[in-house]
Parts: sequence; structure tokens; C-alpha cells
Amino acid sequence: MKDLCIIGAGPAGITAAIYALRAGIDMRIVEKFAPGGQIINTFEVENYPGFAEPVIGADLVDAMDKQARRLGAEVENTEIISISKNGKNFVCNTADNSIIECRSVIVATGAKFKNLNIPGEKEYTGKGVSYCGTCDAAFFRGKKVAVIGGGDTALEEAHFLTRFVEKLYLVHRRDQFRGSKILQQRVIEDPKIEIIYDSIPLEIKGENKVNSILLHNKVSGKDSILDVDGVFVFIGYNPVTEIVPDEVKNEWGEVIVDYDMRTGIPGLFAAGDIRNNSRRQIITAAGDGATAAMSAYDYLTSLEE
Ligand code: NAP
Repeated sequence: MKDLCIIGAGPAGITAAIYALRAGIDMRIVEKFAPGGQIINTFEVENYPGFAEPVIGADLVDAMDKQARRLGAEVENTEIISISKNGKNFVCNTADNSIIECRSVIVATGAKFKNLNIPGEKEYTGKGVSYCGTCDAAFFRGKKVAVIGGGDTALEEAHFLTRFVEKLYLVHRRDQFRGSKILQQRVIEDPKIEIIYDSIPLEIKGENKVNSILLHNKVSGKDSILDVDGVFVFIGYNPVTEIVPDEVKNEWGEVIVDYDMRTGIPGLFAAGDIRNNSRRQIITAAGDGATAAMSAYDYLTSLEE
């Protein structure tokens, strides 16, 4: 049995692994997909300290993964489907019907993008509807696309997409962006971007692939059709916390933690985008991971007393 199991290998989980290994904790780290979490889908990161120039998202993931490996962490490709406590120990059930037992757990499973839940979205996903600029931008070279959303992700991705597309409509449901001022300025000044305020998408239309989007303007009350080849949806994220016991989650499904990343279940910690009051930044997720690992160390030490 391991002393610690870390679930998720995004910036929170990888940082937790680095701190745990340096503290001499006998641990394992598991991840359902690949290391990196949401950074994998980020083209460039310019607010993570230590890089004078923007760093490519995939390169940052690679550096984090290599750093953890150098210290002895091997990210295992395993999906955890439930966590329960059996006496003093935790039992994590995996998707392939095996069990991982450990004395403490750090859950760092991150967040998953939200859907618009409008007609055509599901049907045309992969046929013009996308949730990842870095992955799909090249398919829209010289084409027209719409980006939905007004937060940092939508603004950042819109700016990135203009390297490929001929024209980009940035559709936001209000007349004020939620995203940061520096990103707002970039999209406002970008000649390829036309901003459509106060509008919500009602339907994504097409024939085998996307050819238009039906918009509703909340101020004029009018509906209009926008001809586009693609629709990129960046309207926020939901925490991935299905495996966490309900007793430590709030009404939004976020894991409730204290300043030390402790949940209400002794030995169970949460870090990164899944926790309540998360700032959802790479640097804050990494900070959470470090805190959670140090708290796990304190907890494991207390078990020996
Ligand atoms: P977000 O900040 O939650 O913004 C979501 C945007 O989508 C908002 O503008 C929201 O409109 C809009 N929206 C939500 N539901 C919608 C719907 N059903 N239909 C149409 N529009 C809808 O999400 P995010 O931009 O993904 O950012 C998430 C977090 O990651 C934030 O904390 C952000 O700061 C962080 N982030 C940081 C960076 C960076 O620092 N470089 C980059 C990316 C993300 P309203 O504004 O009207 O609510």
C-alpha cells in the first residue's frame, strides 16, 4: 500500500508529485488521459513565471512532466471511478476493475469545458464545432469562424485563431467582456476580429458540416444567421469531481477545502480547478498542489504518532 495516491496529472497533480517525492513520501500518480490537463489545449502561456517569453503549452507540460520524472514520478495511465474510505485507508476503484489502496489521496482532476447545449452542437462536434483552438485551428485556414464566449479563454483563443482564419466573429452574450483588459485590447485591435455583443447562439446549422450559426440579439430582440465554417465554444469549465464523495462538495460540485487543501475527510485533499474558490490559473493550481502535498505529509506524519 502506498502512502499517497495523486489523481490527475495537470499542474496541480504534477506539482503535488514533485513536492511529495522531495518529502520522501511513497506515492503514485495516476491520470486518465495524458499529463498536462488543460494546458495541453493552450497554445501559449505568458503568465507562468520563469519564462521571459511566452511558452508553448505543450512545452510547459513536457517540462513539468520531465521534472517530476527526474524525481521519480511515473504518471500511470489509469482512470479512477470512485474513492471511498475503509477504516483509516482509502480505496480507489479503477475503470479496469482493479483497486488502489493508499493512506492518503490528493484529487487534482481539473475541469472540463462547458457545452452550449443548443441544437446542432453535438451533431457538428468534430465537423466544424470545436472546443480547442490549438488542436483544430489548422482546419480553418483561410475560413470564417465564430468564437463564443467573453472570458480569458475566448479572448486568448480568438487572438490565436486569427493566425489561421480569414475572419473571426467573437460572439459574447453581454456588452462587457469578462476576460482581462490586456486580452480585451488585443481582440479589439485585431483587424480580423469582428465583435458581436449582446448575442447568444440559438442553433448551429449545417449540411454534413457547419455552415452557419443562428444568433439572437438580446437588445434588439432580432435573430440573424451568420455564415461560418466553424464554431469555437469557450464558455467556461465545470470541475471534474464525480469521484469525490458528495459530503465534501458544494452545490456546484466543487470540492470544499480549507487553506491547507484539506477536505472534511481526514487524509483526502483536493487541489487546482476542482476546489471551491479556485482562481483557475496554472500558477494557482501548481500552488494548490504544493500545499496539498505538504498537508498530506503532515497528515501521514500524524498517523505515525
Ligand atoms: P469564464 O471566465 O467562466 O468565462 C466564460 C465566458 O463564457 C463568460 O464571458 C460568459 O459570459 C460566457 N458564457 C458562459 N456560459 C455561456 C453560455 N451558455 N452562452 C454564451 N456565453 C456563455 O471561463 P474561461 O474564459 O474559460 O476562463 C476560466 C478561468 O480560466 C478564468 O478564471 C480565467 O481567468 C482562467 N484563464 C486564464 C487564462 C490566462 O490567464 N492566460 C487563460 C484562460 C483562462 P458572462 O461573462 O456573461 O458570464
